[in-house]
Amino acid sequence: MNKNIRKEDALHYHSKGRPGKIQVIPTKETNTQRDLSLAYSPGVAEPCLEIAENPEDVYRYTAKGNLVAVISNGTAVLGLGDIGPEASKPVMEGKGLLFKIYSDIDVFDIELNTKDVDEFVRTVKILEPTFGGINLEDIKAPECFEIEARLKKELNIPVMHDDQHGTAIISAAALLNALEIVKKDIGSVRVVVSGAGASAVSCTKLYLSLGVKPENVAMFDRKGHIHTGRTDLDELKSGFATNHAYDSLEQALEGADVFLGLSVANVVSQDMVRSMANDPIVFAMANPDPEIAYPDAVEARADIIMATGRSDYPNQVNNVLGFPYIFRGALDVRATEINEEMKLAAVHALADLAKKPVPDIVNLAYNEPNLAFGKNYIIPKPVDPRLLTSVAPAVAKAAMDTGVARTMITDWDAYEQELHR
Ligand code: NAP
Ligand code: MG
Repeated sequence: MNKNIRKEDALHYHSKGRPGKIQVIPTKETNTQRDLSLAYSPGVAEPCLEIAENPEDVYRYTAKGNLVAVISNGTAVLGLGDIGPEASKPVMEGKGLLFKIYSDIDVFDIELNTKDVDEFVRTVKILEPTFGGINLEDIKAPECFEIEARLKKELNIPVMHDDQHGTAIISAAALLNALEIVKKDIGSVRVVVSGAGASAVSCTKLYLSLGVKPENVAMFDRKGHIHTGRTDLDELKSGFATNHAYDSLEQALEGADVFLGLSVANVVSQDMVRSMANDPIVFAMANPDPEIAYPDAVEARADIIMATGRSDYPNQVNNVLGFPYIFRGALDVRATEINEEMKLAAVHALADLAKKPVPDIVNLAYNEPNLAFGKNYIIPKPVDPRLLTSVAPAVAKAAMDTGVARTMITDWDAYEQELHR
């Protein structure tokens, strides 16, 4: 556990007062008998009839449009593994809390007692009337890929598996900015990926769509380099197989420009970092302990740009930079999905925001007098209030531009004001 957090403090935080971290609060007045007759029978029949006539009115008369389901079966929870649906609930409530505080989205967390893909998909599908969007969470690979793909196809509301795409979006923004700082062209950098699971695959896919060349990517799983000579690869991994075969991660890292770690702790040594090309970019994101510890990596190379998943070092790749605002933008135009263009819009919005002067409130929160775009600040900080007004409109606009928005925003200034409310 993080050195600043004690077990007893964490348990007390969750159990004190009303157990758990979230509750439901009425949004209308409930003081009089009349209020209650409007809220429930007989008044409630009126919106029911309107919606029965015109189903889109469910967005007008109910909370659907601001309600996201955070859904897990507890099979890949944080770095804790398959701990089951009940044990995943604190994480899902926590995600609900983050949605609420960062983008005022309400969440029902839903923990499903099934590992069966068909049953999972069917269950989420019949929940569609309730929600404006679905955030799939902490579902293990490879089931997570099929579950997300099928739900995206079958549902008319946005569906995103955050463990895949959240990390991809944030780290892609970090990659674009790191490459800009070291003046390297994305089309010519050589990238070594440790890990071939949910997050590594989706990060790599997004980097490819940003311009990394497939022949410049070497991906590793537990058994080593993924190349066309291997006979044990599933469909997903074989998509990344190269003709050239590396003997080891060590060999692949020699002269490489970028290392992406989404695997396990301590698979990269200082010597391996030393063997990389000039100005190496190292995103070592295994949690809680990265592929190489931050102090070791920066000690090995003065010219390194390093990011991790940890909050105690610079450049934390934290999904909270993405999901609250991606869903905010998607919900605000009633998008029918979260498509590639919307994800790329989020990437560019995040990358651009990091290049703008940092407000005092952020400097103060991190006790750093002057954070500025550079090696130790390649992505925005989670407390930055401008995330909401940068990322959400970019995502909403991309939804409109790609024809998946069901309502249009025309006055962007007014929209921004509304976001600040
Ligand atoms: P996952 O789906 O279980 O994938 C893990 C991958 O790592 C698998 O492909 C596995 O290989 C591979 N692996 C295991 N041991 C390895 C080794 N010694 N060398 C090379 N590869 C090895 O997990 P995930 O959800 O993608 O997460 C992976 C890691 O990234 C976790 O530590 C997670 O906490 C971290 N993560 C961090 C962030 C963040 O910082 N924002 C976000 C997402 C995930 P096989 O395929 O052969 O089993
Ligand atoms: Mg997660």
